Amino acid sequence: MLNPDVKTIIDAVEGSQELFKYSLPMIASENITSPIARQVLCSDLGHRYAEGQVGHRFYQGCGFVDVIEGKAVELSKEIFNAPHANVQPISGVNCNIAAFFALTNPGDNIMALAVPCGGHISHAKYSAAGICGLKVHTHPYDYDTMNINVDKMINDIRRIKPKVVVFGASLFLFPHPVKEAREVCDEVGASIVYDGAHVLGLIAGGEFQDPLKEGADVLTGSTHKTFPGPQGGMILCKEKYAAEIDEAVFPGTVSNFHLHHKAALAITLAEMKQFGKDYARQIVKNAQALGAYMDDMGFNVLCKDLGYTKSHQVAVDVSKIGGGSVIAQDLERANIIANKNLFPWDDVHTTDNPSGLRLGTQELTRLGMKEPEMKEVARFIKRVAIDKEEPEKVKKDVVLFKSQYQTVKYCFDGEGAYEFFKLR
Ligand SMILES: *Cc1c(COP(=O)(O)O)cnc(C)c1O
Repeated sequence: MLNPDVKTIIDAVEGSQELFKYSLPMIASENITSPIARQVLCSDLGHRYAEGQVGHRFYQGCGFVDVIEGKAVELSKEIFNAPHANVQPISGVNCNIAAFFALTNPGDNIMALAVPCGGHISHAKYSAAGICGLKVHTHPYDYDTMNINVDKMINDIRRIKPKVVVFGASLFLFPHPVKEAREVCDEVGASIVYDGAHVLGLIAGGEFQDPLKEGADVLTGSTHKTFPGPQGGMILCKEKYAAEIDEAVFPGTVSNFHLHHKAALAITLAEMKQFGKDYARQIVKNAQALGAYMDDMGFNVLCKDLGYTKSHQVAVDVSKIGGGSVIAQDLERANIIANKNLFPWDDVHTTDNPSGLRLGTQELTRLGMKEPEMKEVARFIKRVAIDKEEPEKVKKDVVLFKSQYQTVKYCFDGEGAYEFFKLR
């Protein structure tokens, strides 16, 4: 007999696993790791400490960790074509705190995107930027292109003289003007931090912009969004900032860096070296196809003129058909997991039912779906959101459809997307 508390927990773990086995996972910040990456996530490494750098640890017993972290660093530098990599941050927010800690002093000005325009909370004063005592100025933003207004941005950088200009976003359809900012940043002595949390896997596959090549000084990112690895973070930077970044990570903002996650990261980096190009290309093709199919079916998909998206995300204005909260909840009842999203024209403080629905194709792609499947997915969403069919009825068809996509692709051991261990 299982202890009742343990039973409650195990039941919920199994429940969550079953839910995702039979649903369409379309949260743009999630992904699925390969079976071998998951095995190392369950290994003894998750019980260990290895403070310090490769070859310079504060504890004994770190010889194997040195091999693993060394491999992760080597593969990161190669894949991102980066002079320096630090794989120790345990999340994307951790990366941003470390980057700000390394490059700024309390009281400095920075520029970043406002949250309703897609900026992440960690760019705002109530999170990482605030922890570092920074004054945040928001980028000028154009609604019709869903992007930063370049001319106004250049003027603002000249006027504000920020210490850091932040690019990158959580609602992120098109590349940001990094190239366009480089010269004026040099003029005023600003460095550029590119927050690639969402698009790290696309950058790895050469599909989105290449921030370091375009002039960013530091690239931060989560390792579990389009990058299909374990939850965690990594920082890539120019050699000039290597020492500051390393120190801002350890001892600055990380002690234990969750060694099992780093082993899984190293494995995912090896997968991305081999399969990343094909994977990233298919993600974007799928997002563009999904946008086009949904548009054809009557949805108000943003940025039609621009081809809907150049990333893994599709943004749909559902304000006229119920609103983001209502639609996301209805979709959940049909086993389609997505999230409501603020759009720039929404009022942050008054709306709990914003205009937007954000959809990501990275995990469906990882499970082997291509353009024809995107048409099916668009149809399911339409049946719930436009036709207002009973979601539970649509769910039956979603479950049947999803049953065909039960293996992880773009990895070395693509079996069993959901049957990777036995809980009891
Ligand atoms: C998700 C996200 C983060 C935070 O990453 P975590 O790994 O969840 O801490 C940071 N920046 C942006 C732009 C994000 O979308």
